[in-house]
Amino acid sequence: MSYESEMLKSLKMPVRADVEKELLLALFKHNGVIKEFGTGEEIVDEIARSFGLTEKQRTAFLETIYRKENRPKKSYLWHRLLFRAADSLVKENLISRPTDTFRLTNQREWMLTEKGFDVALKLLAIPNSKKEFLSTKSYEVQKIVKKLKKSKRPLHYDPVDNKKKTTTKITEFRLRKRGFRWAVIEAYDFKCAICGMKINSPDSHQWEVEAAHIVPHKINGKDDIWNGLALCHLHHWAFDVGWFTLLDNYSVKMSSKIQLLPFEFGKFGETNFLRDFISRDSTIFLPREKEFYPHKNSLYWHRENIFNFYNKVTI
Ligand SMILES: [Zn+2]
Repeated sequence: MSYESEMLKSLKMPVRADVEKELLLALFKHNGVIKEFGTGEEIVDEIARSFGLTEKQRTAFLETIYRKENRPKKSYLWHRLLFRAADSLVKENLISRPTDTFRLTNQREWMLTEKGFDVALKLLAIPNSKKEFLSTKSYEVQKIVKKLKKSKRPLHYDPVDNKKKTTTKITEFRLRKRGFRWAVIEAYDFKCAICGMKINSPDSHQWEVEAAHIVPHKINGKDDIWNGLALCHLHHWAFDVGWFTLLDNYSVKMSSKIQLLPFEFGKFGETNFLRDFISRDSTIFLPREKEFYPHKNSLYWHRENIFNFYNKVTI
């Protein structure tokens, strides 16, 4: 038995399989990412707490010899155990290495892969169908997000994908959908573009805001950030049924039919989620980067095909 194994045994340290499991759960708890381990990192203590490690177990170190320089090196046993567990998760393709994540997000973090995400969901008995609503990051989805953010905004843009759709695998379709959603809601800083509502669930695993397609997905609207809009549930619905549209200067145009609605319709408290935007002449809450603003061609399509269709008026 090696010196390290003997120490692990004599100090009754957790077995590696359990550390791997706890690491996956910690990743899920932190929405898919945790910082690279280093002395004093909060996450190292957090996982130690989940095992109820004593001070002695946390601070025990082992001395090894630096082969190159032939000098002794001290390292914490607990850190080594954690690192070995992470390394083994990387080999099983359940998480990505900080060096790989860095190339994607510029952050030195361990990140769940889709496979790791699935295992974490299983451990927590959360149905896989909830995946698309969770704000958990995964390596594969972040790759799509990066691609969407880096794409060049076209001057002449056709928001409808007229190419005959080749049958893509359902998993690819779901990944793309999640990539689109994340790229859009992140571009809008998780706020509704109309009312500015920003809220997540108490466990911080879900954002209320949705990524709406301006040209709907069902008629082959493209999954580009310029064909997307972050909207709260209420305003998403109102946009899809044509209660309002957007003009080229990104101001809100309300349906004139709103005047015919009974006064109590659409009220919560003193606020009316539709009427309060009629008099508002200002623009919507837009992304910080102009590159991500909705494309005029998508907005034109919405005015012509949704707003005018449902309202039978011209604007
Ligand atoms: Zn809203």
